[in-house]
Amino acid sequence: MSGNKFARLQRLVVKIGSALLIDDGGRINRVWLRQLGADIAALHTAGQEVLVVSSGAVALGCSILGLSRRRSRLEELQAAAAAGQVQLVEAWQEALAKHGITAAQILLTPGDTEDRRRFLNAKSTLQKLLELKVIPVINENDTVATDELRYGDNDRLAARVAQMVMADGLVLLSDVDGLYSADPNIDTAARHIPVVNEITEEIITMAGTTGSAVGSGGMLTKLQAAKIATHAGCATIVACGAVEHPLQALADGGKCTVFPAEGTPAAARKQWLAGMLVVGGELRIDDGAARALSNGGSLLPVGLIEVSGKFRRGDVVTLVDAGGVELGRGLATYSSEEAVAIVGCQSEHIEARLGYCSGSVLVHRDDLVVFQRSGSGNATNDQ
Ligand code: GLU
Repeated sequence: MSGNKFARLQRLVVKIGSALLIDDGGRINRVWLRQLGADIAALHTAGQEVLVVSSGAVALGCSILGLSRRRSRLEELQAAAAAGQVQLVEAWQEALAKHGITAAQILLTPGDTEDRRRFLNAKSTLQKLLELKVIPVINENDTVATDELRYGDNDRLAARVAQMVMADGLVLLSDVDGLYSADPNIDTAARHIPVVNEITEEIITMAGTTGSAVGSGGMLTKLQAAKIATHAGCATIVACGAVEHPLQALADGGKCTVFPAEGTPAAARKQWLAGMLVVGGELRIDDGAARALSNGGSLLPVGLIEVSGKFRRGDVVTLVDAGGVELGRGLATYSSEEAVAIVGCQSEHIEARLGYCSGSVLVHRDDLVVFQRSGSGNATNDQ
């Protein structure tokens, strides 16, 4: 893409609202989807990683099953999502396959991004798909998500995904071209706001609570999403997707509201980890492993000397050197029982020891904060 807003972004989450994808007659807007598919393929070819968060299952399913979205009960909407999701993902597959790209469906519930054990599972699957050059097409698992336990809108789901995969860009495409000082449909003096550096109370009041007729997100959920993403080091763009080649149009200077990132995804992840309570687990590691950590590497079981305490996969553990000095903390990818069984083990032998393998590292470098030793011997955070 030429002269483009995305050129510096390495990993981009693009969220598409239902109103763009499903027309008033309840059919998939295939011409538009084909154009969006071409835009995504252009980014992909340029070496940028793209994850799609696509709404539309409920709207599509309602039309397939002859239900009214507004008048249906939760179980009916869940049934609609089940029927709609199949066709939705099939349409995405077709749009991306035209460019030789494989699509993969991921359905998430809030637990998959909030519970640390499940977070590790979802994250490593997404990571693997990106490594394999596959484009994940993500939606909420509406068929099992109940009211108390659902995102309800894909804006926040997309922001959580961006945080999980440490994306540096999030684009929320819908039927609005950004934030205005007042509702432009009512107030002709409404001013478009191109950049929001801080999401203040005043900004939230401006957003009001309006939503479109087809999807469930309004400007308020976009601000909530921008807040999550920008704190996670991910720049957020709210733009109107109801144009030909929407990402190309945006890259070429299309109207939008940009929320710049606060710092980098790596710094935000480390801050998140540093603020977590440590579960009573401790991993004592040898000098080689300690050196690998300070050089930005992951902790492998081969460098492990001893495991103390009890922890589960996804719990926070402290890492100490042979002399017992704390070097950092991170999320364990194996439980304490499993860690004991793989002390000093080469990663390729994990399966032989455990009977299965949940990955070659014990603490992944993305999920690790290493303390820098100051002259006085006090450990300080390395950001
Ligand atoms: N998950 C819902 C769907 O696929 C969309 C939620 C939203 O509109 O943001 O229909």
